[in-house]
Amino acid sequence: MPRPKSVRRIACRPEVVYFKPRGVPLRFLEEVVLERDELEAIRLADRMGLYQEEAAGRMNISRPTFGRIIDAAHKKVAEALLNGKALRIEGGNIEMAEERNFECRDCGHEWAVPYGTGRPDECPWCHSLNLHRSDRDRGIMGGRRNRGKECRGGGRWKRNKETA
Ligand SMILES: [Zn+2]
Repeated sequence: MPRPKSVRRIACRPEVVYFKPRGVPLRFLEEVVLERDELEAIRLADRMGLYQEEAAGRMNISRPTFGRIIDAAHKKVAEALLNGKALRIEGGNIEMAEERNFECRDCGHEWAVPYGTGRPDECPWCHSLNLHRSDRDRGIMGGRRNRGKECRGGGRWKRNKETA
């Protein structure tokens, strides 16, 4: 009997959930389904450059589990790119994390911190102490001007309007 899948916490809701090769009619198109926890793993490890240990912590899963998810995600993206398949993003055993975003005034680095973990002391990139809450935090979905950017830095999407 397979083990039940653990719930993976994600902080990114992608605006675009379907990628398709140009010029290939839909009826000839094969699809790869990338689950939303796999996309989150790509965001944390590849886009944000986190170590697997930290990325696993963000998703509330073990490091080996994170390792399996990111491997599966890389294989799927590679398959889509190399074989000209469409990529659909859906599913996954997930829950949405609520996070606050901070921005470094010195280097411009932005990052997300889960609620309840307190304000960070310094910028994780340049160790500056000159931080502020990112204004992209404010408002559900980050407001109109941030539409489609939910996954760039992470954690801008939340269910409740909440200030900390
Ligand atoms: Zn910085």
